[in-house]
Amino acid sequence: MTPRSPARLMDGRDLARRTIEAASTRAADLRRRTGVAPCLATVLVGDDPASVTYVRMKRNRCAQAGIDSRHVALPASITTDELVGAVAALSRDPAVHGTLLQHPVGSHLDERAAFEAIAPEKDVDGVTTRSFAATAFGLPGFVSCTPGGILRLLDEYQVDLAGKHAVVVGRSAILGRPVGMLLLARDATVTYCHSRTVGLASITREADVLVAAVGRPGLITGAHIKPGAVVVDAGYHPGGVGDVDATTARDQAGLLTPVPGGVGPMTIAVLLAQTVAAAAGQLGVDR
Ligand code: NAP
Repeated sequence: MTPRSPARLMDGRDLARRTIEAASTRAADLRRRTGVAPCLATVLVGDDPASVTYVRMKRNRCAQAGIDSRHVALPASITTDELVGAVAALSRDPAVHGTLLQHPVGSHLDERAAFEAIAPEKDVDGVTTRSFAATAFGLPGFVSCTPGGILRLLDEYQVDLAGKHAVVVGRSAILGRPVGMLLLARDATVTYCHSRTVGLASITREADVLVAAVGRPGLITGAHIKPGAVVVDAGYHPGGVGDVDATTARDQAGLLTPVPGGVGPMTIAVLLAQTVAAAAGQLGVDR
């Protein structure tokens, strides 16, 4: 048997750069026409180092793209009512066009209640039940950023989804579930796997498109992959490791997202693009 050539890598960095460039151009146009720059509010509870870094990274990218940001730092000791109150205040503030609540917010807090305090037109991170329903029903609204970024990458590499078997490993509200909905909307036949799935590898080996959104470093190996499949690794772990074992996956997959440099950069790019779109909507400026 002739050995397969290694998978082609899907370059999320380059697509993210172009997506941010487009968002930045649109932000400048908005500012010229209205005198107002798009503004993203970031809300951070406590001082978890990873969350602090993520928020700083998002705000830096906003600044580079001509998007203002306003940071709300809240103590870890805050109550759910106080957190909901702070998020609701941003929803009422006309100077804020998008709100990002960095999560997880802490186990003593009702994260869902805090998410639901984000006004739908400001839900640029796509975390509310209303945004999820819009994604599921194919209605206008903001998508959860990582799933949105994954679809943009698949489109960029002209992956034909209609009639293809897509297997999503993971069913979280912000990643696994919505990415499955987006794939379904493109006429893929979608299977979800999760921690109670029996015979994971036998299911994933049937996938034409395999999305790993599982939160376990290297869980998906070459043995889980059908030769030539498109493999999307949404995972990110310390040391730049994904949910897919890149060494063995490379020899089986046809297309593969690298970690880092695949899905990760696209998440921020979609956040920025949606923030500018939210501002345009609220300022009444069409393209
Ligand atoms: P999560 O909320 O922990 O969900 C993980 C999912 O994987 C759950 O549905 C869980 O099943 C399932 N699972 C766990 N162990 C499994 C196993 N052994 N076999 C099959 N399924 C299993 O995680 P998440 O927030 O969706 O994130 C998933 C990954 O994406 C993480 O690596 C995270 O770091 C990464 N991520 C990256 C970005 C980015 O910007 N690149 C953004 C968000 C997340 P149950 O539902 O049964 O528990």
